[in-house]
Order: sequence, then C-alpha cells, then structure tokens
Amino acid sequence: MILIDGKKAAAELRADLKQEVAQLKSKHNKVPGLTVILIGDLTPSQIYVRNKEKSANEVGLKSEVIKYPDSVEEKTVLEKIQELNSDETVSGILVQLPLPKHIDKQKVIEAIDPSKDVDGFHPMNVGNLSSGYESSIPCTPLGCYLLIKKIEPNLSGKKAVVVGRSNLNGKPMTQLLLKENCTVTITHSKTKDLKAECLEADIIVAAVGIPELVRGDWVKKDAVVIDVGINKTDDGIVGDVHFDEVSKNAKALTPVPGGVGPMTIACLLKNTIDCFKRSQI
Ligand code: NAP
Repeated sequence: MILIDGKKAAAELRADLKQEVAQLKSKHNKVPGLTVILIGDLTPSQIYVRNKEKSANEVGLKSEVIKYPDSVEEKTVLEKIQELNSDETVSGILVQLPLPKHIDKQKVIEAIDPSKDVDGFHPMNVGNLSSGYESSIPCTPLGCYLLIKKIEPNLSGKKAVVVGRSNLNGKPMTQLLLKENCTVTITHSKTKDLKAECLEADIIVAAVGIPELVRGDWVKKDAVVIDVGINKTDDGIVGDVHFDEVSKNAKALTPVPGGVGPMTIACLLKNTIDCFKRSQI
C-alpha cells in the first residue's frame, strides 16, 4: 500500500511556488499578495490563519491579516472587501470561515472580486469550474486532486465515488474528477447503500465528518482512497476512513493527519499566485 504523504507533497509544491514567486518578482518587479480577513477569536480559525500567513511568507508572497472582533458590523467587512478589490497589491482575498451569525456568509463571498477569490467560493468561480472554464478551485479538493494525480496520472474512464456533497469539498471534487473523464458518483446522507457504491470505485474521496465511516470491506483492491475528514475523538484526530482496515485493501491511502490537510494551505498559495498571473495578462 502506498501511503500518500501529503506533508511531503505540500513541501514540494511550496518549493515550486517559491521559485515561481521569485521568477514573477524579477519579471514584474512585484510579488503576489494574499490578504486574509479574520473575524472573532475562534481558536481553530486563528491557528489556520497563522499557518496560512507563515506559509505565504515562506514562499515569498506579500501577506496581510486584517482582524476584526466578533461584534464587527457586516457593513464594515463589506467595505473593507471593496477596498481590497480595488487594491492592486492584493492578488487574493480570503475571509476565514465560519463567520459570526449576524454576518451573511453568502453576501461576503459574493462581495469578493471573483478574480481575487482564492477560496473559489464565488458563484462565478463555482459556475466556471462546473462549465470546465478556468477558475479558482477550492483549496481542499484541489489538494486532493493533486494527490490523486500523483498516484494515477491518467484518470480517464476510472470510476470515482465522492462521499459528501458539500460546496466546500464534495461538489468541486466531483467537477475536478469529471474534468479528468472519470465516471463519478456523488453520495450523501440519503444514499441508500454507500458500501455498495464505494465497492465499485477505483477512486474514493471521503469528505463527510463521520469518524472512520469508510470501512475496509467497502474498498476494492487497488482503489485510491483520499480521506478529507478531520474528526476529534477521544483517541485523537481521525479521518472519515478507517485507516487500519482500509490500508489492508487499498492501493494508496492518505493518512490523517498528514494527508490532505497540508495540501490545503499549499493550494491556497497556488491559487493566490494563479490569481496574480491572470491579473498580469
Ligand atoms: P459538511 O459540509 O458537513 O458535509 C458533509 C457531507 O457528508 C454532506 O453532504 C452530508 O450529506 C454527507 N454525509 C453525512 N452523513 C453521511 C453518511 N452517513 N453517508 C454519506 N454521506 C454523508 O462537511 P465538509 O465541510 O465537506 O467537511 C467534511 C470533513 O472534511 C469534515 O471532517 C471536515 O472537518 C473535513 N475538512 C477537512 C479539510 C482539510 O483541509 N483536510 C478541509 C475542510 C473540511 P447531506 O448533504 O445529505 O447532508
């Protein structure tokens, strides 16, 4: 079984991006800039944002974090986004989710200029991805896709099952696999026989949020299994895939932690650089 090392893949991607930033700097005499808006003091959000800032600095991006208290008015956030939309030094804007209840998430997402939407959540980018046009792609599914391609460079004709249909993970993952000519089944909480669906799959991507849902006897020999889940349990962090069981059957599997997680931030940096490159054309 191949253990898909997301830490290593993310480090390689960051090294490539660092070189690319240096080349862009010498060509354009400026570097891509990422601005993150962080609202409130949720610890996980603070940790994510700190890691994003650290990684952005590591590859040579200009990075900035704008912090607001939980009580900030929606209008203040929307005005700041407008300001960042017209700031030429800002290539990418990310508003860290979740937001306090009084702020309309969709309004915030739609306020971001689609050409600076490094999360790929703007309806314009969602539409472009599903139409097969160039777009920002949500970072976690993009990371999964890059890991899958390392194992299976040619995905054409493969059967893929995506477990979970969130806008964040399952749906964009489905679009990416479709684009590669996979035959994709997208499953969710109302799917009748998830085990039977998974048993058909050459590729399984699990993004559910249920600890160890995907069992060893759900996976056919030689399947590539990508575990997006991050679930806190009494035994520590586990994924949506039963690692010990599935590792006995699968051809390749991502661990949790150390699989998809590290790729997510590396892909955010990639998206920022791609937004910058498109803005220079
Ligand atoms: P989400 O928005 O809660 O969506 C979960 C999806 O799973 C829903 O579509 C739901 O179906 C489906 N589902 C629930 N129970 C199911 C079942 N028994 N069988 C099949 N499908 C079922 O979750 P998410 O935001 O996509 O996150 C999923 C997991 O990924 C979480 O553990 C999260 O922490 C993790 N995550 C990891 C990263 C990373 O960087 N590694 C990034 C983001 C999220 P319905 O639509 O029918 O409700």
